[in-house]
Amino acid sequence: MFKPSIVIDIDETLISNKLYDINLIHNWFNSDPENFNIILDNNPELKNIDIQTMKVVPEPDKLYLTHFIFDNNLYIIMMRPFLKEFILSVNTYFNVYVYSLGTFSYIKYITEAIIKLIGFNPFICIMSNPDSDIREYIKKISKLDLDFSNILIIDDRIDVWVSDSHRLYQISKYSQPYVYNPNYRRKFELSEFLNQTNSNQNPKSSTDPASTDPASTDPASTEPTPTEQIQPKYLLSSDTELKKLILALNAYFCKYPNQIFNIYIFRSIIREIEED
Ligand SMILES: [Mg+2]
Repeated sequence: MFKPSIVIDIDETLISNKLYDINLIHNWFNSDPENFNIILDNNPELKNIDIQTMKVVPEPDKLYLTHFIFDNNLYIIMMRPFLKEFILSVNTYFNVYVYSLGTFSYIKYITEAIIKLIGFNPFICIMSNPDSDIREYIKKISKLDLDFSNILIIDDRIDVWVSDSHRLYQISKYSQPYVYNPNYRRKFELSEFLNQTNSNQNPKSSTDPASTDPASTDPASTEPTPTEQIQPKYLLSSDTELKKLILALNAYFCKYPNQIFNIYIFRSIIREIEED
């Protein structure tokens, strides 16, 4: 059967990762167990770690995909909602390619977990950077052996697709809030983290009139709670992005089966879904 090709990114498109410096986890655990428990409360994926082996026992029904140790970091990989349904759907309509700027070993962990999740290997080709220091920082369709005229690219970044961005559907980023991310050098001091946690746990003062009148139309009463404020907004809409793409693909291929893929029509179908 005639099939167009789809080229899909990994990081912040299909999955998000959290990484924790192993030495830091040990330090936290050994130096201050009480505060470590607060950190665990706010990073539930760390809760099920065997501190000696760094093995994670996943909780069922959560978005946990896999974990591994790489470059002395513990990586915990969370899948985007509807990941399995999305891969099954694109596999119906497309020849499926993965294209990531992540290193070979890192991407292998993730693609193997996706293959295990869906029960077969849907990927014709998995393109990544080598594990060596020689890396590419842009993506080119010409690196893949596929029909140039008939491609859809799904990626959260447009800047890496220098000459192929017209074939791209740019998906919103899927990421998790961090307590600590050594790679981005965003080192929360423990005290800073605890302050943030405490302020989020303090309810509004009961002497505030807006908080005592449930029918109040005072704008202050509609302000987001502190918990909502610390959630980046894109996390909410990004949770349904893959479902939206599945709906759009079904609608598109119902109407235009066996034709050269037209990204402009596809984008217009997505806009229609967003407006509904
Ligand atoms: Mg990405």
